[in-house]
Amino acid sequence: DTVLAGYGLVKKYGSTTALAGVDVEVRERDSLAIMGPSGSGKSTLLHTLAGIVRPDGGEVLLRGERIDRLGENRLSALRRKRFGFVFQSGQLLPELPAEENVALPLMLEGVPRKQAVERARRWFVPLGLDGLAHRRPGQLSGGQAQRVAIARALAVEPDVVFADEPTGALDQATSTEVVRLLTSVTREQGAALVMVTHDADVAAHCDRILHVRDGRISGHSQYTVA
Ligand code: ADP
Ligand code: ADP
Repeated sequence: DTVLAGYGLVKKYGSTTALAGVDVEVRERDSLAIMGPSGSGKSTLLHTLAGIVRPDGGEVLLRGERIDRLGENRLSALRRKRFGFVFQSGQLLPELPAEENVALPLMLEGVPRKQAVERARRWFVPLGLDGLAHRRPGQLSGGQAQRVAIARALAVEPDVVFADEPTGALDQATSTEVVRLLTSVTREQGAALVMVTHDADVAAHCDRILHVRDGRISGHSQYTVA
């Protein structure tokens, strides 16, 4: 029941080796935090698993199928359908109400606007956003905006959600609230979560933590948060 795997991943930028042979396995409904010093290869690892960066060596498998060799069009279609993305901040379109921001990935998949907005609205209560569907991003707090971004990532019911420093712009209390919802709602949806964070308290909400150093796995740990 491995959903996503990377084996022997190598990525070089000129003379810099960003990934020096990394193996990762992510199981169904698993949440994995990637931690490590700045420049250690965390983002490169996340982007490689997500089919955004192509590895120079090794392979990436989604439900056992290699995705790192797919053509650009098939790969971007796969990313839209099977992956969801949450970034640090600023990912919502400011002129659209929250519900339309969430509906956008569905509309890109061809779901008619009305249906897409209806499906989008279902995420608002589980994410503690009841009553905020009509607000524009500028009328939301930082934590609320990140919860809308989580709804948007989950809208297509992806296999894997990738989150790159999703709490990086939030204070500690808000970070805890956001990561709790991110891990629990993602799991309830049936998706796996791969998250890069430099915040150990945030990482502790994940099932497992992978430590990266100089492009290699330097350790791993398992946490259970009550
Ligand atoms: P130990 O080395 O202490 O025997 P295990 O190999 O059993 O530990 O791994 C402990 C946990 O960490 C397991 O859930 C395992 O799947 C996970 N783990 C170890 N290495 C990786 C990796 N490269 N990617 C993802 N998870 C890993
Ligand atoms: P982290 O996310 O842990 O800060 P990164 O994955 O961003 O680390 O970077 C790992 C290494 O690869 C760093 O030395 C970084 O400078 C280099 N790197 C990352 N992306 C690029 C790029 N697009 N071009 C050149 N070097 C890069």
